[in-house]
Amino acid sequence: NFISAVVPPGEIGVRFDDIGALEEVKKALNELVILPMRRPELFSRGNLLRPCKGILLFGPPGTGKTLLAKAIATEAEANFISITGSTLTSKWFGDAEKLTKALFSFASKLAPVIIFVDEVDSLLGARGGAFEHEATRRMRNEFMAAWDGLRTKDSQRILILGATNRPFDLDDAVIRRLPRRIYVDLPDVENRMKILKIFLAQEYLEPNFRFDELANVTEGYSGSDLKNLCIAAAYRPVQELLEEEKVAKSDASTVLRPLRLDDFIQSKA
Ligand code: ATP
Repeated sequence: NFISAVVPPGEIGVRFDDIGALEEVKKALNELVILPMRRPELFSRGNLLRPCKGILLFGPPGTGKTLLAKAIATEAEANFISITGSTLTSKWFGDAEKLTKALFSFASKLAPVIIFVDEVDSLLGARGGAFEHEATRRMRNEFMAAWDGLRTKDSQRILILGATNRPFDLDDAVIRRLPRRIYVDLPDVENRMKILKIFLAQEYLEPNFRFDELANVTEGYSGSDLKNLCIAAAYRPVQELLEEEKVAKSDASTVLRPLRLDDFIQSKA
């Protein structure tokens, strides 16, 4: 199984609303992917409005590219196939042709479908010169050939969505096949606040918890960094109780103190 996941739309469990911030990105994806998949008839007349075959999401690690890919599939009511570039090339040397054919024939049966290729640079990275492994080269060529071979009928309902932290490593031939490139940036202060509100929505917080202050002191944090910080902070009241060991186990959830801003500041250090 070189495919790391195949999920039907109702079971993906991520919607656009679960993603804090990235409003512009969501808007662009709605026009480029979701609408054409849900309402293909709107895009079938004339030649100008052709649904796009490939999209590249690029930007720093942990900014929500994988999350966006999943949410797109949910919102477009499409199946979701996920493959990881580095696993493909390291594990499956030698079987490039068979695997790629299998992937694309499987995908056309599942259409509408989003094929998410994480670390697309390792599968479809720049031609690696003398040191490039023969099998990597073959895999890439097979993949691109199969991609080009998608029939028009299918291509409306099969979208390749690549993600990378290293867009400059991509081959020109791949860049051309991913005509729409969307930058997924680190969140600014307003957006960090939105993301934090999503992560902390179900937590027991001190009254008037200072989201603005927490957003201020987390400059440079990705969504993923913010999540890790919240998890670390949420652990502190638990740890204090364990250290004090003054309550019976069954009482713990009722005596746990609320989370304070300071838990986050301490967890950052
Ligand atoms: P990488 O480039 O390292 O693969 P990525 O950009 O694909 O990272 P994700 O895997 O989507 O990032 O994000 C990691 C985790 O961070 C997600 O599971 C999610 O919990 C959280 N996350 C990141 N960005 C956001 C966001 N904008 N809103 C809510 N959660 C987010």
